[in-house]
Amino acid sequence: MKKPILYIVVPCYNEEAVLPITSRQFKKKLDELIEKGLTDPKSRLLFVNDGSHDATWEIIKGLADSSEAFMGISLSRNRGHQNAILAGLMEVKDRADITITIDCDGQDDIDAMNRMVEEYLDGSDIVYGVRSNRNTDSFFKRTSAEGFYRLLKLLGAEVVFNHADYRLVSGRVLKEFSEFKEVNIFLRGMLPLVGFKSTSVYYERKERAAGRSHYPLSRMAALAFDGITSLSIKPIRMITGMGLLISLLSFIGVLWSVIMYFTRQSVVGWASTVSIICFIGGVQLVSMGVLGEYIGKIYLEVKKRPRYIISERTKEDCEKDDAY
Ligand code: UDP
Ligand code: MG
Repeated sequence: MKKPILYIVVPCYNEEAVLPITSRQFKKKLDELIEKGLTDPKSRLLFVNDGSHDATWEIIKGLADSSEAFMGISLSRNRGHQNAILAGLMEVKDRADITITIDCDGQDDIDAMNRMVEEYLDGSDIVYGVRSNRNTDSFFKRTSAEGFYRLLKLLGAEVVFNHADYRLVSGRVLKEFSEFKEVNIFLRGMLPLVGFKSTSVYYERKERAAGRSHYPLSRMAALAFDGITSLSIKPIRMITGMGLLISLLSFIGVLWSVIMYFTRQSVVGWASTVSIICFIGGVQLVSMGVLGEYIGKIYLEVKKRPRYIISERTKEDCEKDDAY
C-alpha cells in the first residue's frame, strides 16, 4: 500500500519563545513516522504565521532554509487560531494524503501522532485527539470548557468532548471541507459535519513549553459564542419558546386578576405591575440581542470577504489562491 504523504499544520502567533523548542520536536516526530514506514518521505511540516508581531516569521524562514521538511506561510495580519489552521489546511489540500493540525506550544502530545496515522491506515478519515485529563488547566478553564461542551451538545451540535484542534484529517475530508465557505468558522464543530468514519485517540495535555496562552477569558467567551451561533439556531427557537411561556403566564395572571375582581378582593399595589413590565422588557432585550447576533453573522457571511490573505511563503513551489 502507498504510504500517505503527511502535512503537519502548525498555527503560530507570537511564539518566538516556544517555536525553536517545539519545531525540533515536531521534526523528530516527522522523521520517526517516515522511518517507521507510516508516512511517505515527502511528508512536511507547515507553519502558519498568524500575523505575529515578534520574530516568529523570521524563525520559520530560518527553519525552511535549514531543511526542506519545513515550510511556512505568513498571513497578512492576525486572523485568529481557527483561520490560521484553515489557511494551512487549504494550502496543503492538493498535496496531502493526510494532515495533522497541532498547536505549536508543545501542549499536545506528539506521540499520539503515531496512533493517529495508524487509525487512518485502519480506515478512519478523521482522528480526533482527545485530552484524557484537564489537569494542566486552571479550575476556571476546566469548568467553563466542560460547561461549554455540554451546552453545545444540548443545542444539538455534534462535538467531541474534550477535543480541541489536534486532529488528523484525510485528503478526501479536506477536499469536501474546502467547499464549506462560511466566514465564521469553528473547526471542531464543522468537521464532524463532513461525515466519513471517525475515531478518537486519547492523550495527556501538558503545560506550555514556553510563552503564554493567547486565550484570556474574553477570547474564550468569543470563541464559545461563535461556536454556538455557527453550529446551532436553537437559541432562536428558545426565544420563541420563552415568548410562549411568558404569554401563558401573563394569561394566567390576567385570569387571576379578573377572579379577584369578581370576588371583590381588589388587586392592590403597583410593584407587581412594574416588575412584570421590567421583566418582559429584559426578556425582550435579551431576545433582541440573540437575534441581533445571528443577523450580525448573516451580515458577515453575505459580504463573502476572504477569511485570510497569505502575504508570503517560504517556498513558492506552486501557484495557489492567496485568499480562500
Ligand atoms: N494562535 C494563532 N492565532 C491567534 C492565537 C493563537 O495562531 O490569534 C495559535 C497559537 O500560536 C497556538 C495555538 O493557536 O499554537 C493555541 O493558542 P494558545 O496556546 O494560546 O491557546 P490555549 O492552548 O491556551 O487555549
Ligand atoms: Mg496552548
